[in-house]
Amino acid sequence: MHELSLMEGMLEIIEDSARAQGCHRIRTVILEIGKLAGVEVEALRFAFDAVTAGSLAAGAALEIEEPEGQGWCAACGKVSPVTARYDMCPRCPTLPLQITGGAELRVKALDVD
Ligand SMILES: [Zn+2]
Repeated sequence: MHELSLMEGMLEIIEDSARAQGCHRIRTVILEIGKLAGVEVEALRFAFDAVTAGSLAAGAALEIEEPEGQGWCAACGKVSPVTARYDMCPRCPTLPLQITGGAELRVKALDVD
């Protein structure tokens, strides 16, 4: 149910932003959910339909972008692809990479009326 509470939080951001723009209907919501964010995208889609019922975003299309994971190594300074948090640098296998991409979890854009 992590995705449900996450989606409720995102809906607040979405509705606040839509009201700030003076709009009354949201046509499309674009989320950015990195592959390392630990979120089940299918569960999030399901949660979206559930929490947006009766809201400004009711019936809106949901688009989800899923950036690939990447990380930076403090030892060699290289950026490498990361498939899981705490992946090690392929050149310096003693150091976990610092995640620089793929952990996104945000409302990226709205298309509103
Ligand atoms: Zn390294």
